[in-house]
Amino acid sequence: MRMPLTTSLLSRVAVGIRSNRREYIPPAGYLNQVTPQYAEAWFPTKGCFWDAMGHCTTCNYGVSVEVSPDQMVRAAEIAVDSLAPSTRTLWISAFDTLHDREVPPATRREIFAVLARSPVDTILTEAHPASVRSEKVQECVELLDGRTFGIQLGVETMDEFIRYACVNKPYSNTLLARAVDVIHDSDAVAYANLIAGIPFLTEREVVAQTALSVRQAISIGFDQIVLFPNHVKEHTIAFALAESNRYSPPDLWTIRDVLAAVSDLVSEIHLAWLDLKPHPGAAEVSFEPSRVSTKRLYDLLNQFDHSRSYEPLQEAFDLIRPHTQECTETSLKSRLLDGYQWLARTFGHDHWWVENEDKIAVEIQQGLSRSSVDHSTESLPETDVLPTRPGRVVEDLALNIVDSASVPVPDLTKGGANG
Ligand code: SF4
Repeated sequence: MRMPLTTSLLSRVAVGIRSNRREYIPPAGYLNQVTPQYAEAWFPTKGCFWDAMGHCTTCNYGVSVEVSPDQMVRAAEIAVDSLAPSTRTLWISAFDTLHDREVPPATRREIFAVLARSPVDTILTEAHPASVRSEKVQECVELLDGRTFGIQLGVETMDEFIRYACVNKPYSNTLLARAVDVIHDSDAVAYANLIAGIPFLTEREVVAQTALSVRQAISIGFDQIVLFPNHVKEHTIAFALAESNRYSPPDLWTIRDVLAAVSDLVSEIHLAWLDLKPHPGAAEVSFEPSRVSTKRLYDLLNQFDHSRSYEPLQEAFDLIRPHTQECTETSLKSRLLDGYQWLARTFGHDHWWVENEDKIAVEIQQGLSRSSVDHSTESLPETDVLPTRPGRVVEDLALNIVDSASVPVPDLTKGGANG
């Protein structure tokens, strides 16, 4: 099975962009007591496997020097020992806690045994849906000894085409649904992390497809949604696009509009990243939207998130949004082709682009035909570049993603992600 050309291009570019990150030395422990009831802790690892593959156009959590299993466990111990006794929920994660190459199974066991000594009711962590396996989830649940275990999956969007063409996370909703089933069968709780502000989309598309994603994520069984605005981090494709005026991150009005579009579901929605987090390895963030017009909105969104009360949200819905300049929208297909061409030429893949441009155009057209985003009806000839059965491409990719990668796969157990 071959990787779609889109992922091949975006991964090549991202691996190059990420290759000049400087490794950081993680602290022994990191805990942020966000409220008396909620805290966030990070434990260090060498880095995310998918980051090293070039996936995820918006992500850069930094790249650490080599980390020993003892350091990972010690960071969990420091977090648990530092928690306020009133803490009910602890979010603790690396990047993909259930990926064996990032967190070795024996180390994961030790970490969860440490977490079972904490005073909290609920432990949350993050994972990629491809890493969710019954035996791992069940083991964590058992080790947590009666605490609720919530797994946040980096869904980003429920539109498979947008997920692979704009975010470069080429896995299917079938894989997601399977992960949700595994989580539920293990008596854990499934969270869908959805990002607002996906590159290549207009604001109108961001609001519409994020709202639709909330509904679809709940309909396939996710228990809770975590909605967050993208921030432009250095060493990402989003940063490269923003630098050339091809991308702007969303402001809080966008988040407000998404919430207003799914106001019947807000009891299931949590907000994240309204502020930047100074976590270990945090990238420089640029192009932040002005907060001038969103001061009151920011307070109301925070009040909603902390109190879970609908009233601040109702006031947020009633706020009048400042006038924003309408811009003429080109089709998503045109934006993608233009953006891909610019990325290929700017990052030294001209020859590859010349060879593959026509096939990429076909791939986009066929992907768009299955997408929820409004698109032009330009028709292209049928080809065999991609299977035409709906959902087939990403479904197959989900099963073959590692073996079929067309970019080198660094061995995270032996060297740096950029080595
Ligand atoms: S978004 Fe998640 S899976 Fe993708 S590179 Fe970042 S941490 Fe890894």
